[in-house]
Amino acid sequence: MSNPNSLLIGGSWTAAADGRERRVVNPYDATDLVMVAEASALEAESAVCAARAAFDEGSWAAAPAVRRASVLTATAEALQQHREELALLETLDTGKTLTESRTDVDDATAVLRYYAALVTADAGRTVDTGRADAVSRVVHEPVGVCALITPWNYPLLQICWKVAPALAAGNTLVAKPSELTPLTTIRLFELLQERLTEAGAPDGTANLLLGPGVVGAALAEHPMVDLVSFTGGLATGRSVMRGAAGTVKRVALELGGKNPNIVFADADLDAAVGFALTAAFLHSGQVCSAGSRLLLHRSLHEEFTAELARRADLIRLGSGLAKETETGPLISAEHRAKVESHLAGALAEGAVLRAGGTRPTEPDLRNGYFLRPTVLDGCHPGMAVVREEVFGPVLTVETFEDESEAVALANDTPYGLAGAVWTRDAGRGERLAARLRLGTVWINDYHPYVPQAEWGGRKQSGTGRELGPSGLREYQETKHIWRTVSPAPQRWFAS
Ligand code: NAD
Repeated sequence: MSNPNSLLIGGSWTAAADGRERRVVNPYDATDLVMVAEASALEAESAVCAARAAFDEGSWAAAPAVRRASVLTATAEALQQHREELALLETLDTGKTLTESRTDVDDATAVLRYYAALVTADAGRTVDTGRADAVSRVVHEPVGVCALITPWNYPLLQICWKVAPALAAGNTLVAKPSELTPLTTIRLFELLQERLTEAGAPDGTANLLLGPGVVGAALAEHPMVDLVSFTGGLATGRSVMRGAAGTVKRVALELGGKNPNIVFADADLDAAVGFALTAAFLHSGQVCSAGSRLLLHRSLHEEFTAELARRADLIRLGSGLAKETETGPLISAEHRAKVESHLAGALAEGAVLRAGGTRPTEPDLRNGYFLRPTVLDGCHPGMAVVREEVFGPVLTVETFEDESEAVALANDTPYGLAGAVWTRDAGRGERLAARLRLGTVWINDYHPYVPQAEWGGRKQSGTGRELGPSGLREYQETKHIWRTVSPAPQRWFAS
């Protein structure tokens, strides 16, 4: 199957100028799903020019917020109408289970609705001038042309986290999803473009490019792009930041994590074991906030690790379309090879294998990019597998003696995205939450989030925040307007 006209530039669906296409592969069995257009720097130029022209035309930015909000609300409704279709596409493209894909569609819907509501209440503020004849107010304006670059693990959700606040604020945009998983983003932009047209937005308000990193790099560097919002790996994030520096554009980075999941002896251990498995192995660990570092109080270590390893071995791998499947494959052969090389390095550094560590042997999983959920015991912060993001089903186990050691270990990483603390002592939970240098801390839970609360990383997990009111501010300039109502002549200078 082929879908060559899968680039959206200036309101029209089009093929790459040189006709180039890319195979999209199902990671479950390595079969081809579809061919899509493969853009190059040439299409990046056209898409940026279209977004620039649409922004400079002015009507989208100047539209009442309720009109922009209505496009988001209508797109949210369309996502729900096409929920099963989108979930199926996401599962075929990423390998995740249908249950996860449906949740992603619902979460994407929620973020569109949230920003539709938030922007209509965003009236700026007036400031006391101390003068009866002068008015001072602070207003929020769109930044301009936004480049939105997303990864392959949550394709629909990640792009909606960016598209919703960008359009709510009145920007125009060029999106560039991962070349590995473009399918739900294409469908989203079909639905979105129809609603933008209905609302009278200028052609080029939302543009879609598909293709590899060079297309993203062209966007990050482009002088007509005002903002780049990037979600992806640390090395790519650094490169995006360097590219954006040439024109000092605004940069928001959502990068990787090496997230601690800390269990104290007074925790509800049954809940903690179950959540440790979800934290580490949901979507085969391909989650930026995966709880890939388990920190156990020394007294728990043996019992907890044994139970964890027992249950990790029972996790059912398979097709995301099958009801009984609990987790799917890794995204590609290359990515699995990278995860396996982390694993080999860890074992060479002295980690002890307690579960997994191999590819499954079932015949129906032979062609897909599967790896069994893996538990590595006897780990310490000196090991590469503890310091570097593996982004696969690999959980490392370390131990600590007391609160201070738990905090020191958890913070001893270049990343600072998310993590959890398990304890029945409410005071300890709060003390830890205050001392962990992370963007999100869960106490007695793992992974929940809501669009109303900010998401993002500290240290090398990124800059800026998505979701919540801060997520809208990322896409807005703040302007101070001072108005003197009836100016009196001023005699500052004698002349
Ligand atoms: P990646 O960095 O390889 O790619 C991300 C996107 O950047 C893709 O669209 C890719 O084509 C593009 N890209 C590649 N090179 C580029 C360049 N030089 N300039 C501009 N764009 C370029 O990441 P990935 O492998 O797709 O995704 C996995 C990573 O994403 C993990 O590190 C994960 O932690 C991170 N992630 C973070 C969050 C978060 O919220 N912090 C969420 C999801 C994923």
